[in-house]
Amino acid sequence: MKQREIMPSVNPYDERDLLKEAISGLRHYLEEEMAWGWDGWEHASPANLNSKNSGPTKLEEIRQELGDCQRCGLHTSRTQIVFGTGNPQAELVFVGEAPGREEDLQGEPFVGQAGQLLTRIIEALGWKRPEVYITNVVKCRPPENRNPAPEEIAACEPFLIKQLQAIQPRLICALGTFAAQTLLKTEAKISALRGKFHTYHGIPLMPTYHPAFLLRNPLKKREVWEDMKKLKKEYEKLKEISNA
Ligand code: SF4
Repeated sequence: MKQREIMPSVNPYDERDLLKEAISGLRHYLEEEMAWGWDGWEHASPANLNSKNSGPTKLEEIRQELGDCQRCGLHTSRTQIVFGTGNPQAELVFVGEAPGREEDLQGEPFVGQAGQLLTRIIEALGWKRPEVYITNVVKCRPPENRNPAPEEIAACEPFLIKQLQAIQPRLICALGTFAAQTLLKTEAKISALRGKFHTYHGIPLMPTYHPAFLLRNPLKKREVWEDMKKLKKEYEKLKEISNA
């Protein structure tokens, strides 16, 4: 009798709630994994980098799925969706934060002054701009170029994930605080994140300063160049491994 008294009483409804929570968590995890595809993660590893799926078709399908997107409030102020541009089978993908005024008008990411600087950085690395792929975390311009809100990022990020899955790049470069923090699920500052490789779904990711920040702080160009040299070196290394 005494023993029965000290046993914790379990409410069957609590148990059911816990079970529901666990199942929902598991479902969410599996959906994320499936969004990437089990093979996708492996393809991105250095051992299997030659495997490419049909990037162009996939990207077109993803764009179609996005449609005239109204999944978050940013659709109300945009001129057009800025999906991404470049080589659908690029080995290097640059991810920025969000379209600005020029990008919103032209429908292409990184076409303003910051975009011209990014083009020079890409060319200094030995690529041509059409050889890489460039996109943003959110595809619509936030009003007055404000930072994207967490719910806007949450609504748009699945499409970034799908783009990266379709392209399967060897390397990703996250431009600026928002891109780096969103992709790496961290609140660390870009100054702490840059300069070293992180991993995004098995793909090496180098965060660095956003070109727009460089326009305001030209002295930081030296640090970005150091990051880009590491990116190039890693690219050569991965290429060597995949050619071996
Ligand atoms: S930012 Fe992304 S989720 Fe929001 S409306 Fe634009 S395309 Fe849709």
